[in-house]
Amino acid sequence: MISVDEARRLVLDQAPRPVIADTPLLESMGRVLAQDICAADDIPIYDNSAMDGYAVIANDVKGADESYPVRLVIAGGSIPAGKLPQERIDPGFCVPVMTGAAIPAGADAVVAREDVQGDGKSILVFREVMQGENIRYSGDDIKKGDKVLKSPHIICPSSIGVLASLGISEVPTFRPPAAGVIATGDELVGIDQKLARAKVRDSNSYTLSAQIIDAGARYNRYGMVSDDEKLIKRSIEKGLRENDMMLISGGTSMGEYDLLRDTLEDMGAELVFWRINQRPGRSMILYRLKGRPVFGLPGNPVSVMVCFEMYVRPLIRKMMGFSQLFRPLVRAEALHEFRNKKGGTVFARVILENKEGRYLFGSTGIKGSGMLTSMVRANAIACFPPDMGDVKKGSVMDVYNMGCL
Ligand code: AMP
Ligand code: MG
Repeated sequence: MISVDEARRLVLDQAPRPVIADTPLLESMGRVLAQDICAADDIPIYDNSAMDGYAVIANDVKGADESYPVRLVIAGGSIPAGKLPQERIDPGFCVPVMTGAAIPAGADAVVAREDVQGDGKSILVFREVMQGENIRYSGDDIKKGDKVLKSPHIICPSSIGVLASLGISEVPTFRPPAAGVIATGDELVGIDQKLARAKVRDSNSYTLSAQIIDAGARYNRYGMVSDDEKLIKRSIEKGLRENDMMLISGGTSMGEYDLLRDTLEDMGAELVFWRINQRPGRSMILYRLKGRPVFGLPGNPVSVMVCFEMYVRPLIRKMMGFSQLFRPLVRAEALHEFRNKKGGTVFARVILENKEGRYLFGSTGIKGSGMLTSMVRANAIACFPPDMGDVKKGSVMDVYNMGCL
């Protein structure tokens, strides 16, 4: 049996080099940029007005104020955004410009409409403007050749906007891996089937698929397979042809029908580890087959979720080029005593709260490791170190914040 730290290391060692994929702009949202992006254009590409107003020569309106307005003659029709101005502004003249309009030659500032009174032929300017005032110069935002985004930037709505303005419709990102999901167990029935005594609806293949989506990866759900070596084998073979890793729930411990290890050995898989000194999920398995990781996750619905969170998700994130692999870790105080047996790291589903800057955690109030509702209520996982025993009220523990805070 290995420690949690060793298991983590062995799992993360399975990650192949991230694969770069050209990704349609919006699909790149949330992914890691795989190459630096340099600008092929100046943004904006032309000097333009930051205001609705009048393009002027700053020198003409020097000293203008409420009591000494300056009169300028309107030289031409107003320039909207998107149209090239034909006029040239000579001293004593001005031209109306809309926000985003190109600045006509000769002008070097824009007076805002609210600082002007006009009669259609000329205007009175009541406020002076400095040279360059209210003008967005070409290259102000981005200069041609600038490295605007650096790998491993995580693409967010604002970077999507920058990429769009640079005309980049395909973005180099690290491709999310595909993970195949199989649920094993003679007791399983489909979610559209009636429950009968001794039967359990297969929830694990759905929870796992949802966790894969949540991690940003792609899932392929192969549904349920009964505890039969031949069928499990066939399903794994198919899954490995179509995925970068396989997640198999159930059949990992030492029961008579726990066939996964024998099946994988039979298929020539190479054992990475079996059993981690932890609860839940002690009997977790990792094999390597056809160069890919194959996880056996103990079938208990809570174990499945916790093992995914602690081991599979970080691996997926590593394959996607993220540098932050684990959920944010905080040090939090126990709100009350937790009864806790010695022997192995314990991952406890807890409720984490932040009270005036202090992190506190308490129980979900649900006992029993098979209770999936405890996962719904929990927003964090507290780690009690091996041989900790009971956790006293006020003890400070590592708690993974699952993102609901
Ligand atoms: P196993 O790891 O196969 O020994 O399963 C442990 C427990 O998890 C048993 O009580 C199963 O009924 C339950 N279980 C196994 N697979 C699933 C599944 N796909 N969905 C829901 N519960 C399951
Ligand atoms: Mg089973």
